[in-house]
Amino acid sequence: MTKIKSINPFDGNLLKEFDSLSSSDMEEKLSQSENAFQAWKKTSMDHRSQLMKKAAKVLKEEKDYFAKIISLEMGKVIKESIAEVEKCAWVCEYYAENAADFLKAEPINLPDGSKAKIIHQPIGAVLAVMPWNFPFWQVFRFAVPTLMAGNTGLLKHASNVPKCSLAIEEVFIKAGFPAGVFLSLLIDSKKTTEIISDPRVKAVTLTGSEKAGAAVASAAGQEIKKSLLELGGSDPFIILEDADVEKASETAAKARMINFGQSCIAAKRFIVVEPVYDRFLEIFTEKIKSMKFGDPLEKESDYGSMARPDLAEELYEQVQKSVASGAKIHLGGNKPEKGSARFDPTILTEIPKDSPAYSEELFGPVASVFKVKNTDEAIKLANDSEFGLGASLWSKDVEKAERIAESIESGAVFINSLVASNPHLPFGGIKKSGYGRELSRYGILEFVNSKTVYLG
Ligand code: NAP
Repeated sequence: MTKIKSINPFDGNLLKEFDSLSSSDMEEKLSQSENAFQAWKKTSMDHRSQLMKKAAKVLKEEKDYFAKIISLEMGKVIKESIAEVEKCAWVCEYYAENAADFLKAEPINLPDGSKAKIIHQPIGAVLAVMPWNFPFWQVFRFAVPTLMAGNTGLLKHASNVPKCSLAIEEVFIKAGFPAGVFLSLLIDSKKTTEIISDPRVKAVTLTGSEKAGAAVASAAGQEIKKSLLELGGSDPFIILEDADVEKASETAAKARMINFGQSCIAAKRFIVVEPVYDRFLEIFTEKIKSMKFGDPLEKESDYGSMARPDLAEELYEQVQKSVASGAKIHLGGNKPEKGSARFDPTILTEIPKDSPAYSEELFGPVASVFKVKNTDEAIKLANDSEFGLGASLWSKDVEKAERIAESIESGAVFINSLVASNPHLPFGGIKKSGYGRELSRYGILEFVNSKTVYLG
């Protein structure tokens, strides 16, 4: 039986080891989920809202307990873990307040005088394949609208965060959700295809890499089941000549270093027009240098370690290859110690087109800084990517920025702000960043049967 290990990446200590589920355990979980669905789909929106408000309360009251599990298991600093748990409470409250309105029947009056309506009905168990980087937030962002719509949720979490996976199940149990409405499945990713093909599973959502996304979407496609993919990004952070350079540069450092750079929407490519380039680089570098390394559990720490030693190794390889192809190291660039998940924040400049820093996602604390001549060149470079998740655009002329936003190939553009997810705003990508939307009304409508009822 495969073991699933929880390891503190900051010091390498084993926290706990779990047996992965056997075939009979899996069967039991799937039938539990199906049975729960039959009752859950009949519950009122008001009842679901009450339970979801309780989930928010559990998260808020026990935020230190949950945050510690996150920090210990994936190396995020405690202040960011606490903020993550609070954000999960926010999404619970948001859908508790708004789901009934989002899902209410929509009447349609046809031109010939006849009438119809659209009703949004639950579909059954939705499987979520989730990553470790925001181990609570990514899951709540899927689970809350899914459950509010009357579906049940099955979670296959990343293998390095089993304690988070079980802790999330604990939140829903403590809030009073019936057994089986939300279930954590401790399984190897190889088992995912088998679960997707089970007739009791109706759809799948994945947040993760392109490779995992392609595998899961193919399996869902084979079964004619809907999939939603939230994949990687190499988001541009564009600074135009008329930007507030000080504010933009300081925000840029935050945008790159959030979650120690391990965020799909972290700004990764900083595209700066020539006249403000030097000033940007100076402030940006100082800001990153001023961030404090330390134990993730210490309140003062700004960054601890990456989530796994192999991720640090992989990132270093991308840096090395970029340097070999001509990129310059402006800050950091040191080789991580063997077997360690610690990484020195790094800034690369003068990056050639054929280097990983130009074309690949750098999923960690490495910033790629580009100098461009003008706005047109900035837009061209921003769009010269396989990815299209979120872009940040800086200019004091907001009307001009709004026009430019239309020509940027991404799922979102944030003007004079870093890109951040928010329950009120649809979230998702285009190109190889995936398809479908989470959050807002768009998110809850992804996994329902929007049924047309013609009334004559
Ligand atoms: P990952 O390796 O793709 O893992 C994500 C999930 O997929 C894990 O649960 C993993 O399970 C599973 N998985 C991996 N290969 C699979 C396969 N062949 N079949 C089925 N499941 C499979 O990604 P990660 O390293 O955890 O996360 C980093 C990536 O996620 C980055 O590219 C990042 O940009 C992206 N991301 C995107 C968003 C977004 O909203 N767009 C948000 C966060 C992260 P195991 O752990 O068991 O392998």
